[in-house]
Amino acid sequence: MTTGFYWDESCFWHGGGNYAGMLPVGGLVQPMNGGLPESPETKRRLKNLMDVTGLSRELAMQSAPNATLEDLLRVHPASYLDTFKKLSDAGGGELGRRTPFGPGGFEAATLSAGLAKGALMAVLRGELKNAYALSRPPGHHCLPDFPNGFCLLNNIGIAIEAAKSAGLAKRFAVLDWDVHHGNGTEAVFYDRADVLTVSLHQDRNYPMDTGDFADRGRGDGTGYNLNVPLPPGMGHKGYLSAMDRIALPAIRDFAPDVLIIACGYDAAANDPLGRMLATAETFQMMTRQVMELAADICDSKLVMVHEGGYSETYVPFCGHAVLQELSGSQICAPDPFAEVFPLRQPDARFDTFIDSWLDDMVTALNP
Ligand SMILES: [Zn+2]
Repeated sequence: MTTGFYWDESCFWHGGGNYAGMLPVGGLVQPMNGGLPESPETKRRLKNLMDVTGLSRELAMQSAPNATLEDLLRVHPASYLDTFKKLSDAGGGELGRRTPFGPGGFEAATLSAGLAKGALMAVLRGELKNAYALSRPPGHHCLPDFPNGFCLLNNIGIAIEAAKSAGLAKRFAVLDWDVHHGNGTEAVFYDRADVLTVSLHQDRNYPMDTGDFADRGRGDGTGYNLNVPLPPGMGHKGYLSAMDRIALPAIRDFAPDVLIIACGYDAAANDPLGRMLATAETFQMMTRQVMELAADICDSKLVMVHEGGYSETYVPFCGHAVLQELSGSQICAPDPFAEVFPLRQPDARFDTFIDSWLDDMVTALNP
């Protein structure tokens, strides 16, 4: 069986407001042509790089239908969807925080969710070995009724609810390694015991008021949300250690039917919105870790959904490393920063600090 890759040119055409990076127009900085950091460039260049190396020819490349209204209503209230669709048809606007969209924004978002849904459904039906959805706009920040952080619909939430409704799986684990807290996915499933949500993120990056380790879920969902806030400068070794010591054991204990990765690349060493020093090899090794875990606990059922990552030069190489690992391909895109980023890793003296930072969470989870 092959690895599926879900993408659609239309998702690259989603666009928003006139920004200068994160700063709205009206300040003292000249607006940038690309606007927000969430632009098509990183995603398109990942797809382009896969075409140039030939990796895409080894994958099952495809699009998927837009998520339907029925799909959306399982996660988002009708009032939000109505307002979003009307404003999109009227030329676009802003309904939350840092989520501007233009005409056709609604359709781009439902297609983005449709790619995640298509990937998850195909893997659960046994049609693909595993799959990657190059979703855009991203989804993990979007709450049921509050879009934020470039996210207009909760792609993974919509995909999970569709798969559950179709009777394809009962228990889902979401591991979010985007550098920002997966506050939207957390909110969608906070009261639920059938979906484990785990987020590794830079402490107090975005949002600044969510992502605490103490936030473990509510009611039936108590114990089924796990936030793993990490200090800036975590580095390659620190990330793999946080995965090994905290994230992976929690998922193993939960024993899901399928593992879904909210795959952001903004923990990379030169990302403009993160300060974590991960490298393409870090993402490749984390992919190996989750593949080994999925082989042990859920018949290798693994789906990745693209989230953040804002370095136009580096996201393509990080993503290529993930797709190479996921598909078991021999085709590699050599990391152009392979000699530089390892030199920027934290000094060995930092290891003690990282160990003690993680020890506190390990101890709290295993009293
Ligand atoms: Zn992010």
